[in-house]
Amino acid sequence: ARVDNPFRDAVWYVNPEWSAKAAAEPGGASIADINTAVWMDRIAAIEGTSTAMGLRDHLNEALVQGANMFMFVVYDLPNRDCNALASNGELLIAEGGMARYKAEYIDPIAEIVSDPAYQNIRIVAIIEIDSLPNLVTNLDVPACQEANGDDGYREGITYALNALAPIDNVYAYVDAAHSGWLGWDSNFGPAVDLIAGVVTGTDEGWSSIAGFITNTANYTPTVEAYLTNPNLNVGGQPVRSSNFYEWNSYFDEKSYAQEFRNKMIAKGAPSTIGMLIDTGRNGWGGTGRPGSVSSSSDLNTYVNDSRIDRRYHRGNWCNQSGGIGYKPWADPYPGVDAFVWVKPPGESDGVADPDFEQDPDDPAKQHDPMCNPASNNTDNPNVGTGALADAPHAGRWFSKGFQVLLENAYPPL
Ligand code: BGC
Repeated sequence: ARVDNPFRDAVWYVNPEWSAKAAAEPGGASIADINTAVWMDRIAAIEGTSTAMGLRDHLNEALVQGANMFMFVVYDLPNRDCNALASNGELLIAEGGMARYKAEYIDPIAEIVSDPAYQNIRIVAIIEIDSLPNLVTNLDVPACQEANGDDGYREGITYALNALAPIDNVYAYVDAAHSGWLGWDSNFGPAVDLIAGVVTGTDEGWSSIAGFITNTANYTPTVEAYLTNPNLNVGGQPVRSSNFYEWNSYFDEKSYAQEFRNKMIAKGAPSTIGMLIDTGRNGWGGTGRPGSVSSSSDLNTYVNDSRIDRRYHRGNWCNQSGGIGYKPWADPYPGVDAFVWVKPPGESDGVADPDFEQDPDDPAKQHDPMCNPASNNTDNPNVGTGALADAPHAGRWFSKGFQVLLENAYPPL
């Protein structure tokens, strides 16, 4: 039988490959022994190569470490990353990608994680980051439209959950985007409906999941310490009407994650579901961090001087200088199972150079303008992307990016 919270009182696995890269960087040793998720970001990642550990290698290593919590990411849907280019994947719906996803990707994963040799390891499966939320907000994009139909994201996630749910020691957490994406009422309600619909449509319904995860592909702060009331009036207007928040009432991941869970419970989810918040890159420390709330009576000045999120825009998702956030731990807040580092700090979000060379491991990956420091935000042309220069392809080690995350860590390391 499953435990209520797989992170609680567990020995968390350390990925030796990520750990070695972190430890090789100046200052990196201070975080190199921390759990990060292992990404199965293509079919070939399952088996591994002579130089890269596969899924079974990691699980065997977990046994060697005496770890009983191992976290990995299921990330290979056809039409992956449909609203952007940086993490496009190897499978396409139009080329029969769904049949391959099931037979060559999900089935082998399920076979490995169901091996009785691993039955005492709590295997946390993070399900398809950046997928279902695109079906709520990005249906104007042809690749997302396709993902919204037959053989699309719903089908793939349903298949994945059905394959994993019978395995008693697997705990699935489904992506819930982040506050700066789904926080508006007009997105929040439809997203909860859509995601709840997929979960309840699986063979085991709510029992297929342990909960949901926020903020993996993003940098939204866990708590906006100085902006705690979105409806507070400043200069005659509510804080949430400022340019930065664009009327979104959810400024941070704590408030968003807790409300996401409440809304799922209202949809029928059991109160045992828990949220995860990815805190690997949302610390926002360093010299730019405000130390107190602003006393300005001008709304935008007040918000800009008080917020710890230093981005030009909350939609800026690529290689931001966010800083290491809270270290992972279990039960940080009511309803939140853990802070986790699913996106491994130091791994790029996408290649910065428009004239990039292909990634041999994942040749579908392209340059997204949101990763270009010289471009403006593709949805909001008045602001820059804030992306760091010289970043390699998504998932590749980005030494300079890692250094910036260490410098801007909060709490300081
Ligand atoms: C990339 C994956 C990578 C993951 C973790 C994603 O953006 O597309 O290839 O494994 O990030 O770094």
